[in-house]
Amino acid sequence: MKNCIFCKIIAGELPSVKMYEDELVYAFLDISPINPGHLLVIPKEHHVSASSIPEEIAGRMFHIGSRFGVAFKRALDADGFNLHLADGACAGQVVMHAHLHVIPRDVEDGFHWNWRQLEYDGDDGRTAIAEKILEKFKK
Ligand code: AMP
Ligand code: ZN
Repeated sequence: MKNCIFCKIIAGELPSVKMYEDELVYAFLDISPINPGHLLVIPKEHHVSASSIPEEIAGRMFHIGSRFGVAFKRALDADGFNLHLADGACAGQVVMHAHLHVIPRDVEDGFHWNWRQLEYDGDDGRTAIAEKILEKFKK
């Protein structure tokens, strides 16, 4: 994709600190990390949304991301890691080439997700949402 910064990084037209590459995916350090070591795993094919990434490539992204999570624990003494993917501008996606964030975490790293927790309108409300979604869920 011509004007995509991540496609340019894969092509070597923009610099990156490469962490991993195979025939399907590319991984590099995020330029503005939540914590040092924060990296991005991206498909080599240009996909805006995770939903269009073929299963084999999406699986590779998750697998490589998790392996880096283990490396964070061993190399950085991290306590854990987050895998995060923002799909759509409303979800926080800024770069429109799908990417999986892999973020090393420490118990006291001072970073808190603003993860709100709403309540359903009873069991019926919860079931109604499930049914509405499943009507359109394509297996
Ligand atoms: P998102 O908000 O999920 O779209 O995240 C985009 C991420 O890409 C941000 O965390 C940026 O810091 C990162 N980013 C943008 N440009 C570059 C770049 N040239 N090299 C490395 N990371 C980048
Ligand atoms: Zn791209």
